[in-house]
Amino acid sequence: MNIILVGMPGAGKGTVSKRLCEKHSLQHISTGDVLRQEVAVGTALGKKVEGIMNAGELISDDLMIEIIKGKIDEKSQGVIFDGFPRTVDQAKALSEIVDVRHVVFLRVDQHEAIRRIKNRMIEEGGSRADDRDEVIEERLRVYEEKTKPLLQYYEGQKKLRVVDASASIEQVVKDVEKAIELH
Ligand code: AMP
Repeated sequence: MNIILVGMPGAGKGTVSKRLCEKHSLQHISTGDVLRQEVAVGTALGKKVEGIMNAGELISDDLMIEIIKGKIDEKSQGVIFDGFPRTVDQAKALSEIVDVRHVVFLRVDQHEAIRRIKNRMIEEGGSRADDRDEVIEERLRVYEEKTKPLLQYYEGQKKLRVVDASASIEQVVKDVEKAIELH
């Protein structure tokens, strides 16, 4: 069962994905984590994407699709996609690679999302350059412009489930499980 989590930066996609994957033995693919790892190790790919990420912009669809193809473990029982797709073109490409059963929109208001990003900044000691104030604003703008259209795209396919992500993590995990009948 392949699942996509969609939500603005700070909605909790990473935390919820990790919990669900541990509980249900699913593969977690966070494209943000994959890219940050490349940057940390200093690979050619990392060098290519670092500036784009630090500016809060998106990596090109072609590159992201190549990356995702190399990450899907065919033997896994299912994948939770966290941070991919981020554009309708990425979503169309993904549909040619795997069958996506559910898309969960983690709905949270912008105020709460910013509060969470700022908390993460403090908790993780500023490990993410894109959690800086001036970049957060751009990431939210990019989300509105490029990622939000995914909601309509998946709604049209009757795959969209909406979960209130402003609740506690335990509650959000429960609500996602209920929304997609994951037992
Ligand atoms: P995230 O950890 O999901 O917030 O991703 C951090 C950054 O990585 C994003 O702001 C983008 O620069 C880049 N990124 C991650 N996933 C994608 C994607 N699917 N398409 C384009 N860029 C991405």
